[in-house]
Amino acid sequence: MREEKATAEKHSDTGILFKRAVLAALGLAVAAFVLIDQRTNLFVYAITQDGPPSMLPREDEGDEALWFDDYYTVHTIDQRTFAIGEPRYYQKNFNYLIVGDTRALLFDAGTGQRDIRHVVESLTDLPVTFVPSHLHYDHLGDDVVFENTALVNLPHLRARVVDSQLPLSSTEHFGQVEGYSLPTLTINEWLEPNGELDLGGRSLRVLYTPGHTDDSISLFDQTAGYLFAGDFLYPGELYGFLPNSNLGDYLQGTVTVQAAAGSTLRVFGAHRDDRVGLPELGLDTVVRLQQTLRQIQAGSLASEGVYPAMYGVDERVTLLTEPRWLQRWTPRYPDLSWPPGDAGEVFRKEAK
Ligand SMILES: [Zn+2]
Repeated sequence: MREEKATAEKHSDTGILFKRAVLAALGLAVAAFVLIDQRTNLFVYAITQDGPPSMLPREDEGDEALWFDDYYTVHTIDQRTFAIGEPRYYQKNFNYLIVGDTRALLFDAGTGQRDIRHVVESLTDLPVTFVPSHLHYDHLGDDVVFENTALVNLPHLRARVVDSQLPLSSTEHFGQVEGYSLPTLTINEWLEPNGELDLGGRSLRVLYTPGHTDDSISLFDQTAGYLFAGDFLYPGELYGFLPNSNLGDYLQGTVTVQAAAGSTLRVFGAHRDDRVGLPELGLDTVVRLQQTLRQIQAGSLASEGVYPAMYGVDERVTLLTEPRWLQRWTPRYPDLSWPPGDAGEVFRKEAK
């Protein structure tokens, strides 16, 4: 009897231990699921600030930068092309004023901490159209109202517009991290991907360069050899791990830019690292980024960190992505790669 009791107790001990182990494993699985499912919200929470970030002290930005309103800097790239920097904002944004004979474009408008229209009006008398490189809060100028706003004509954006009004979602705007409320944009003009924008005596190609977000464009001035790249490419850490980021899109963007560019290209990005001056890179970095993406896709490149995973592109650029098993590689609009004809077909086939 006593032996039987001891055996029964042993069994029940083993049973309790087993149940505890199952519960612990379940608990870990739930915690892991929540962490993975909520990773973007956790990231947003981690970087959310109490209010607008405090302004950085004014530092020497070099002889080529002219200060405006003690906040903006203006770099003259050429007589019709200006970079309007915000070196006192911690993200060091750069916006571009591109002037033709009959109209001018403002490519990005910063966070709106200061009204960028004042500096724009000091540089041109022409009518100005605001073109956001993408819809993140730090490119839209917050509550500054532009007379004309042009947006890339993508199906998922166009479908939401009623009476020229496009309300933005929090995942495409992200302004909550600095206390900005969600805006509704008034769209006056749609830009066709791969289409040409005539500024009078100067034309720009609208290149679809997604990856950072699925609504990102670059503007390409073929005559001058300039690419205004927004957050697609700049010196610093590229964010390729957001809810609407996609590495297949990023690859498409690099293929498009390389195909559109000649043998040289001046790439002007929308943010800068600590190096004073313009956030300028060259075609070599576009090619390096493409190689890096192909190596990540093939699993032949080691990353640093887990979330985001970090891959070095070159000495000035790092690509931040989702962990390997969460990465997305199917491009959203492969048909919008450049060139639209047979050569672009190579990428479109590869992507399908
Ligand atoms: Zn962005």
